[in-house]
Amino acid sequence: MNLKSFFLKANNAPESTGMLFGRFITCKGCGRRISVVRVRREYFICPGCGRYMTVRARRRILMLTDRRSFVEHDREMTSRNVLHFPQYDEKLEAARENSRENEGVVCGTATVEGQPTCIFAMDANFMMGSMGAVVGEKITRLFEYATARHLPVVGVTVSGGARMQEGMISLLQMSKVSAAVQRHSNAGNLYVVLLTDPTTGGVDASFAMLGDITLAEPGARVGFAGPRVIEKSLNQALPKDFQRAEQVLRCGFIDAIVPRREQKEFIGKILSLHRVTV
Ligand SMILES: [Zn+2]
Repeated sequence: MNLKSFFLKANNAPESTGMLFGRFITCKGCGRRISVVRVRREYFICPGCGRYMTVRARRRILMLTDRRSFVEHDREMTSRNVLHFPQYDEKLEAARENSRENEGVVCGTATVEGQPTCIFAMDANFMMGSMGAVVGEKITRLFEYATARHLPVVGVTVSGGARMQEGMISLLQMSKVSAAVQRHSNAGNLYVVLLTDPTTGGVDASFAMLGDITLAEPGARVGFAGPRVIEKSLNQALPKDFQRAEQVLRCGFIDAIVPRREQKEFIGKILSLHRVTV
């Protein structure tokens, strides 16, 4: 097994759940063509087969926060190819075009059901939400900002793991973000994390699993190494729902699976309950 297959998990990337043609999206689950307007109204859930489509970070924040409450932090931060990894510059450029974002996470402050909070959302369209130095730095800064102001943090994760093109610098982000989460927690602040499909690798092994309350979307894949890697290592077949949110919930790693339409209200309630107890 090489490092590329271990960390980036290209083979375990979520199935492309929808293809955009003009003003219509074709569902990869049932083949139904749905207007973009309707898909947005339906929270990016296919009305034909109920399939959860991938949601861009910025749209995810819009879905979870109160209208016009989001103020972005560190939008201009971009990655550099400090290790001179072959073709990384080209991949970064393609990712910026593909995602229309400067990096794989969007961070800022907002209110959720009237409750002030810091929020970050990762973007699967930017190198599969992989975590490099900028992703780690932006999330760390957000936790430090939240700690200084006694604000909760809501995080939405989607990631193939650490970004292999940044080598150890990428892996270092796991401990850096985890330390910032711990300082935020030690100061009595709340961290709610929402795991979406897929949350794997170095992100799963660090801040995705450090929430005070861990939520997940139905059917989301949550795990460290992908099932193919584990099957090859163990040389045995895995259960059909292996690493799906429902199975991970049964194992005790997730507190609740929350359907997309209910997430804003659910998280708003958690934030308001925590606020009255502190
Ligand atoms: Zn469908």
